[in-house]
Amino acid sequence: MLRQDSSRIDPKRRNVLDHRKTQFASPTYKETQYPHRLNFYETPPTADITLEQFEQWAIDRLRVLAELEACSFRNKSQVETAAHMKPLLEKYLPLESNTSSSSKLSAERQKDHYSHFILRLAFSSTEDLRRRFSRVESTLFRLRLDEDNMRERNAFIQSLNLDWEPVTEDERNKYLPELTATRGLKKGGDDETWYKVDWERVPDLVESRRVFLKAGKAFVPSKELPSMVIAEYTKRLDRALELTARALPRLDEDDRLTPILDHLSKNFVTPDASYSSSTSTVPGAEITARNVDNLSSHFPLCMQHLHRSLRRDAHLKHFGRLQYTLFLKGIGLNLEECLVFWRSSFHKITDDTFNKEYRYNVRHSYGDVGGDSNRRGGGYSPFSCQKILTEHPPGPGEAHGCPYRHFNLENLTALLQQTGVSDPSVLRGVKEDKDNQKFHMACNRVFEYVHKNELKKAKDESIMTSAQLETIVHPNEYFKRSFLLKNLGKVNTGGDDVKMEGYN
Ligand code: SF4
Repeated sequence: MLRQDSSRIDPKRRNVLDHRKTQFASPTYKETQYPHRLNFYETPPTADITLEQFEQWAIDRLRVLAELEACSFRNKSQVETAAHMKPLLEKYLPLESNTSSSSKLSAERQKDHYSHFILRLAFSSTEDLRRRFSRVESTLFRLRLDEDNMRERNAFIQSLNLDWEPVTEDERNKYLPELTATRGLKKGGDDETWYKVDWERVPDLVESRRVFLKAGKAFVPSKELPSMVIAEYTKRLDRALELTARALPRLDEDDRLTPILDHLSKNFVTPDASYSSSTSTVPGAEITARNVDNLSSHFPLCMQHLHRSLRRDAHLKHFGRLQYTLFLKGIGLNLEECLVFWRSSFHKITDDTFNKEYRYNVRHSYGDVGGDSNRRGGGYSPFSCQKILTEHPPGPGEAHGCPYRHFNLENLTALLQQTGVSDPSVLRGVKEDKDNQKFHMACNRVFEYVHKNELKKAKDESIMTSAQLETIVHPNEYFKRSFLLKNLGKVNTGGDDVKMEGYN
């Protein structure tokens, strides 16, 4: 399906590409027809496309999937997700219905078809990637199914030839009380058409008790067909991903595709872990060891607490050092400066002790020493809120973790007051968030309070995009946004709608 593009392929390698890669270079060409807007992606594409198209289409789909995952991470409802995704889908992966008069129907559907298969290749290598890919692709499918024109949707479902067994008249009469008692079905619902399917095929209907179960079969009313279609889609995709994973080793031979696929899968970062020093550095900020005290006014509470503890004790224990070092690295403090920072902060110990006990760990966090993969990857990524909230809770004498979660209310309130947050309504809100275990919502509440004037200005003057004002789920994002807001007008806030590391 890949056409060589003269601008991308070294002419000397062309023969090699033509003759050695037979399994990929000589597909049976087949023009695919797209009678429906929706696609179960059962048939791999075989027509030619250029390397540029291969890469660009995959990147465009990846932007959509990454944003869908971010929506789920931010707990957006289905309706909110649909509203949020609408402009992005129109921009990156439009799919018009048959009734539209668009002349681009076929091109749009081809891009959708190919990009799905390219990412399937990129994300089938590990179980974690497969699971995430399947989840976001199913969400995308659901979004599209929901907004599909009713007639076209029915035609598409008919075309799937799903082996759902209609419930007979006798069965319907026999189980009428149970069927009418099914949640959501009103009396008189016996006019409904019902289908019998294995209950495993409709797990969400079973979970929400929207179906009657008998002898391993779920009796599904026709109004629930979309749920069945989505479950079927997910099931087939999961199976296909397994098969793709098994076929992957053969693809290693293709040195045109492997680097692109590798790059794509590395960029399918979780929304909470998407920080590298390149995405979180702030233009215009002086990120040096001696400026960390000043910058700390922009830090979230977790990092402010680490900074204060460090200044108080001239020391931090291991996890505190790790969490703080990676955060500082994430805001753009380079290794040299970071070493200066820790050395001057640990002022009660000798150079010798510092060099023996602490220097190596800082260098390791930056990927300056350590195993190959650590070095190649530039060390570790700054911790996300999710990681800080859920891993390694702090023990006695440790200052890492998230104060909204790991402090008791009294200590949390005292810390907030020390950092200038004493408004009773904010403190009440923080208490409620903490009681409801919505720790990062408490953090966002404080952020909004501390930056209320700047946020108003940014919104009124449309200085920052809505994506830039979304819920914060990463300490480095907190810093970046705080710095930008407090320096509105002095620095460029950027403004792409979806950030893809390495692709902007
Ligand atoms: Fe830090 Fe995240 Fe906790 Fe805020 S919610 S204090 S950024 S870990």
